[in-house]
Amino acid sequence: MGPRLIIVSNRVAAPDPSGTPAAGGMAVAVKAALKNRKGLWFGWSGKVSEEPDLRPQMIDAKRLTYVLVDLSKNDVQEYYNGLANSVLWPILHYRGDLQEYSRADASGYIRVNQMFADRLSPLLGEEDVVWVHDYHLMLLGQELRARGHRNRIGFFLHTPCSSPDILQTLPLHERIFGSLAYYDLVGFQTANDRENFARYLVARGARALRGDTYEFDGRQVKLGVFAVSIETRTYMRLARNAGRSAMIALVKESLADNKLVLGVDRLDYTKGIPDRIRAFERFLEQNPDWRGKVTFLQITPKSRSDVKEYGEIESEVTALIGRVNGRFGDAAWTPIRYVNRSYSRTVLAGMYRAADVALVTPLRDGMNLVAKEYLAAQDAANPGVLVLSEFAGAARELDRALIVNPHETDAVAGALKRALEMPLAERRERHAPMIAYLEIHDIAKWAEDYLSVLAEGRSSRRLLNSLRTFFGASSQGREPIATL
Ligand code: UDP
Repeated sequence: MGPRLIIVSNRVAAPDPSGTPAAGGMAVAVKAALKNRKGLWFGWSGKVSEEPDLRPQMIDAKRLTYVLVDLSKNDVQEYYNGLANSVLWPILHYRGDLQEYSRADASGYIRVNQMFADRLSPLLGEEDVVWVHDYHLMLLGQELRARGHRNRIGFFLHTPCSSPDILQTLPLHERIFGSLAYYDLVGFQTANDRENFARYLVARGARALRGDTYEFDGRQVKLGVFAVSIETRTYMRLARNAGRSAMIALVKESLADNKLVLGVDRLDYTKGIPDRIRAFERFLEQNPDWRGKVTFLQITPKSRSDVKEYGEIESEVTALIGRVNGRFGDAAWTPIRYVNRSYSRTVLAGMYRAADVALVTPLRDGMNLVAKEYLAAQDAANPGVLVLSEFAGAARELDRALIVNPHETDAVAGALKRALEMPLAERRERHAPMIAYLEIHDIAKWAEDYLSVLAEGRSSRRLLNSLRTFFGASSQGREPIATL
């Protein structure tokens, strides 16, 4: 058995219907990155059981083996709802003020990371390469090292990384953020995220070496930037077909001749949904001519409903939408359509294609895949316009979008008007370079770039060679990553 790629993430998008993860960028990206590759994907099954089986469940599917562990109710409460989503998520998104820290949750986080390491450890071959994803599993690298594994082990942070001042508001920050030094490579979405973490390490006494490497706690860790992306070409094809589906025809018919403005976000306080609704309200206030001629569809699957802040944002959004619809709507026109359900990838692609404008205005976002998907879904001959927050990682790359500060209601309202009234020539001139960029910088390139840096410096020639074989083949049509 040659070296394999072992992916570890909190949730695993296993082919089991009950294990299907909720809509979210991380699972979507990892699934796409693993497509056609040989390896193993390890993580939580999504199931809660009082006596979790000590042996993980294995599902073999084509080249991939899924290895799933269950969590107990306590684990889910302390590790997932607790430290991961009520503490690390807000802190990493610059909202240290929202964290609800407790020692019990911190212990639960450590316990589950250790349990993952215990279950994964016996499955690891000496030459396997391990790629750990996201803020739920920061400690895993250190825990695997403690169990004697000297493999190449990398980590990728899908969220933003806030500044050292905010990271230090986590009571156990040295234990948790400091453990990232036990990985060989830590990847970030943007240079800003990388710089923030480098400054954090240096403030704790790390020494900067050559080649983006830092020495900390007796370990050497490389910090890199790898902007996550989408399966651009597949998505373009999907949207072309989905745009002609019966479902999308129904949506278009229901709109009559109205322009469609679209928002797609999990119901999360980082997404700036209330600010966006206020901007739409301002737009209607300032542009009476547009009343009755535009419909704003906000698709917002609920997520993390067990966390307090998520209940609060839900009430706020519902009240605001009610206010705008009550104030501007009439018997024949509802300004904002609001749906709390999640749509399949295909239907969503069709909605993007039908939308004249996408409002992607998070207050803070690691990347935001919706922005990239929207561009890929457009008809290049008649594309819609992307209005994008400067605080989404995607804004570093998609610089021909209308870039806005989501806190400035007037600016977002102004950008919406400009987008709705933008002449065809300008829409095409903006869309073309961005889609050309995304065709090259797709999800496969993200995975290749990350894995080739992770493989650098590895003693095993075998691994480098197998990677080279893969990259050579990939330009002729993305063959599976042979043995890595
Ligand atoms: N998504 C979906 N169905 C929905 C809403 C969203 O499949 O009804 C997907 C969307 O296509 C995108 C992901 O969920 O791939 C959201 O990723 P993003 O990076 O925009 O945000 P995140 O949820 O990870 O914060």
